[in-house]
Amino acid sequence: MEKIHILDLNFLDTQEAIACFLVETDQGPLLVETGPESTYPVLEKKVEALGYHMEDIKQVLLTHIHFDHAGAAWRLAEHGAKIYVHPVGKPHLESPEKLWNSAKQIYGSEMERLWGKMMPIPEEQVIPVQHGAELHFSKNSFRAIHTPGHAIHHIAWKMGEIIFTGDVAGVKIDGGPVVPPCPPPDIHIESWKLSLAKLKAENAEALYLTHFGIINDIDRHLDNLSYVLDDWAKWIKPYFEKDIPQKEVIREFMAYTQIYLKREGCSDQLLKVYEYANPSWMSVAGLYRYWKLKSQGRI
Ligand SMILES: [Zn+2]
Repeated sequence: MEKIHILDLNFLDTQEAIACFLVETDQGPLLVETGPESTYPVLEKKVEALGYHMEDIKQVLLTHIHFDHAGAAWRLAEHGAKIYVHPVGKPHLESPEKLWNSAKQIYGSEMERLWGKMMPIPEEQVIPVQHGAELHFSKNSFRAIHTPGHAIHHIAWKMGEIIFTGDVAGVKIDGGPVVPPCPPPDIHIESWKLSLAKLKAENAEALYLTHFGIINDIDRHLDNLSYVLDDWAKWIKPYFEKDIPQKEVIREFMAYTQIYLKREGCSDQLLKVYEYANPSWMSVAGLYRYWKLKSQGRI
């Protein structure tokens, strides 16, 4: 039986903001997600604490290419790992400049502190994986479930009775409620809901969330996520329609979501971790874009 280790990458010195998963298989350890490059030293320490070296990791399965999930993939590739990703994500790992530069415009001088560096991965080490494809590593197999909505190229990975859900099953930290991460540019509410239905239909025993940990009460969790996703999208819509600058909306949206998190029992410290894992400004930008494309009939 495979063993799964949840590695807390201690992003920005907090707990349970970003995880990656080390799975011990008959063919050695593999990783699902890598976290950002800024937390690579923590990842290395935790892998070594389990008795492995980074060179032992020959396979890395990514759910999608956002920095908090895939930012350190190139470091693993330097140690010889193959990186598995949806075909739409593949070119961005091979030439990350575009991804990097557009993020740099947003994060500016904070870029490296938050995310570290991102370097190109040689083409032959990036393996494209379509929906339904199965990867076999001796007795372990992983099936790719294409789950767009959060990102167009998002994959959830099913291994046996569990699913590594990346961001498609939301963010739920330390007993707090589940919330949807809605960064630009791919947010699509309808596709996201279809993806949630796909996950439900798998009848899995557990979901492993990158932000953060294990969910057993799957149907209820996914129903709650669907509810909050609708709620956030509907909350944003009138601001978009009135053309209110996003800067003004972010403050109000943050207040709105914090009231919700507090009502659900989150402490001030936990609110901070939620904001690190799922920044309010990103969801405002992502949902603005969703409504804009929708109003233009482009999605
Ligand atoms: Zn994420």
